[in-house]
Amino acid sequence: MSHFQAQADFDPQHPAALALWCSDGRFTSAVEELLTKLGQPRLDTMTLPGGPALLDATSSSLGGVEIAREAASFLIKAHSIKEVVLVAHEGCGYYRSRYRYESPDAMQRRQLADLRSAARWVSGTHPGVVARCYFASVVHTLQGPRVTFAPHE
Ligand SMILES: [Zn+2]
Repeated sequence: MSHFQAQADFDPQHPAALALWCSDGRFTSAVEELLTKLGQPRLDTMTLPGGPALLDATSSSLGGVEIAREAASFLIKAHSIKEVVLVAHEGCGYYRSRYRYESPDAMQRRQLADLRSAARWVSGTHPGVVARCYFASVVHTLQGPRVTFAPHE
């Protein structure tokens, strides 16, 4: 293939929302759909294994938390982001490899605590920026497996 021209229109305006979630591509389309539902059809993205975990000092590493916070702050300031959507997901491989011996329930509690911690960091560091947290799980419906997002305060 030589040159490829995408069909999507290019909008020179930066989106007002940043979504931070796990690299796990099984959730990508669903997260984009969530953002559209939240009134943010266009988004800046930060996807790294573990997603919002990386903004938390305990579930990240010392260097990792610095890099993730610096990257998020850059996008928020340079692109005038108004809303940050933080998504953790069920069965996250990052958490499973980091906390190998934790039960699924304890793991989910940890992920929710990390979401809250990430949201506190966002609104504490960037006053006026709204942080929203969601926990994504897979449910089985008549149409097949679907991703649902539970808001988390
Ligand atoms: Zn994951």
